[in-house]
Amino acid sequence: MSINFTTATFRDFENIPDFDIVKRADIFYDFLEYMKSNGHMNYRLKNNSGCSSVMNVDIGGKPDDFVSFVSNDYLGFTQHPKVKQAAIEGIQKYGTGAGASPLIGGHFVFHDDLEKKISSFFGRKQEEAVIFTTGYTANSATLQILLQKEDIAIIDMAVHASVHEGCAFTNTKTFPHNNLDALEHILKTSEDKFRTKLVIIDGIYSQDGDVSPLRDIYNLVKKYNAYLMVDDAHGVGILGETGRGALEEAGLMDKVDFITGTFSKTFGNVGGYVICDKKMAAFIRFQSRQQIFSATAPPSIMGIIKAIELVDEEPMWRIKLWENINYFKKGLNDIGLDTGNTCSAIVPVKIGDPNVTGDVGKLLIEHGVYTNPILYPAVARKDARIRMAVMATHERKHLDKTLNAFEDINNKLHIAKKFNNNHA
Ligand code: PMP
Repeated sequence: MSINFTTATFRDFENIPDFDIVKRADIFYDFLEYMKSNGHMNYRLKNNSGCSSVMNVDIGGKPDDFVSFVSNDYLGFTQHPKVKQAAIEGIQKYGTGAGASPLIGGHFVFHDDLEKKISSFFGRKQEEAVIFTTGYTANSATLQILLQKEDIAIIDMAVHASVHEGCAFTNTKTFPHNNLDALEHILKTSEDKFRTKLVIIDGIYSQDGDVSPLRDIYNLVKKYNAYLMVDDAHGVGILGETGRGALEEAGLMDKVDFITGTFSKTFGNVGGYVICDKKMAAFIRFQSRQQIFSATAPPSIMGIIKAIELVDEEPMWRIKLWENINYFKKGLNDIGLDTGNTCSAIVPVKIGDPNVTGDVGKLLIEHGVYTNPILYPAVARKDARIRMAVMATHERKHLDKTLNAFEDINNKLHIAKKFNNNHA
């Protein structure tokens, strides 16, 4: 069996039936070399400057400054002096690690403070949050412990990979992205067949940056006696009058059964959370294997507590972010580029063809702009795009430089003319 490198993606090397693991790794290595040789190896570049709108990145042994759109640090809080100071104080007071899992001695005062802070951020009671070391685990670990073979997970096909992983041991049905009729059909046909029906969606979707029809989904979930989990990793801090996210915008903050999210984006750190009823929170704390057998987050997460406060204390970051998003999106659309249905800080330029997308990523680097070409399996095979995350700390000159780069690339590769109509 052979693999065509020009059309292959990382996923194609997961399992090649004819070859054992060593041979598979060999072939994959050749593929990486091929990607490097055609300039498409736009992954795992070494950053030498932290998350910021301009990053010093090492490409092929030549570190240089690039305008960057690869960071989900939307409000720029990883570099905020007050957030850094709070993280430093955490380390000075408690050291660098927590040394144990929460259940057996790794639950510190600052973990407790953070759980209270994030639950009250959503207007919930203090006992209603459980924190995890990543947003990924918050989803996967919670779902693994909630759902078993008697239950069913009903998920939007575009939910995050961590949700798919969490549902691996239960019955799972997937509905086309944001398709209410398909969701209702599944809810109707699964009635009485399963012990628990849990619908899982994102608030903002991570590759298109578009929003869920949250109200309609909530109404359907109630109609069919199901439960609802919303992962709003990309909406929190950005959407809603006070930055509580997509659920605030939909008026559902106190209504959904489970809110999950991450501390790695708006809050500029690492970790994740689940917000739910206090008895459910206790169940997750004592039953989830990750809570029992895996160490808790280090004291530097005290920076998150300050970052959460800053969402209220310094709303100008959110205002600046939205000015940037609107300016940038309009600039791209004026060139004729397709940014899909985004209504968040995630701005995709949808191209379609994976190889053209790789070429665009390479040319952007040549123009001094660092972005992520996103290919299958993160998106459908023919839906490749350049994914950009706009930050509050981008300056107008950064956005203009990037728009000029896209204009130039479009003149060469005609990405607007050739592919835009497919997505109209
Ligand atoms: N949910 C969504 C929607 C995400 O986009 C991500 C991160 N890409 C996660 C969860 C996982 O968050 P973390 O990086 O904290 O593991």
